[in-house]
Amino acid sequence: MSWKIKALKKSPWVFHVNTGACNNCDIEVVACLAPKFDVERFGIKLVGSPRHADALLVTGPVTAQAAQRLREVYKQTAKPCVVFALGACGCNKGIMANGYHVVGPVDKIIKEVDPNAIIAYVPGCPPKPEAIISGVVQALSAI
Ligand code: SF4
Repeated sequence: MSWKIKALKKSPWVFHVNTGACNNCDIEVVACLAPKFDVERFGIKLVGSPRHADALLVTGPVTAQAAQRLREVYKQTAKPCVVFALGACGCNKGIMANGYHVVGPVDKIIKEVDPNAIIAYVPGCPPKPEAIISGVVQALSAI
């Protein structure tokens, strides 16, 4: 097992990307970091740059405005990395599916850049913090 995979499994550093979410999913991500759920105790840490990240937490259905930014952020993230598509919008565009401005979902945009990208899905509208934490832990243990 390479040191990068070991680090990814033991203490994944994550970068949060909003690609047009209504912000409810983002509030649940913040709740994961707050003292009640405190994901840092599991080594999961939010970082300010994709260059420092092992995983991307992506919310939203990916709007036309956000698509190119998501591609660039993915390219900047150290590989191997895991992309978490959070919420119904991240998984399959959710209630925003018929929006004129929506070009996602997340997996479609990421696979344009890297067909072998590792993508995990955490459904819910919004997913509860428990679901987000469980999804991250399950996906990382499956690697
Ligand atoms: S999944 Fe629901 S809560 Fe999350 S961004 Fe979409 S509409 Fe908002």
